[in-house]
Amino acid sequence: MSRLLFLFAIAVIVYLLLKSFRNRMSGKNAPGENTPGQAEDMVRCVHCGVHLPKHESILVDNKFYCSKAHHRIHTEKPE
Ligand SMILES: [Zn+2]
Repeated sequence: MSRLLFLFAIAVIVYLLLKSFRNRMSGKNAPGENTPGQAEDMVRCVHCGVHLPKHESILVDNKFYCSKAHHRIHTEKPE
């Protein structure tokens, strides 16, 4: 009878180990926010050529500008 309890205890321990292992695996594979080390897309201002992060740029007619001023200057005086 005590052997049966022993086997049951082992079964419980194995079950708990598997459960924690699975939790760790799923935690590792969980989609994080922005993955660190992955650089953001950089774009180039068509007017002055400065590089800046895409989210800070102004996109007009598939052209990136670093500022509204450069967009205005560039469209007023096209090269
Ligand atoms: Zn610019």
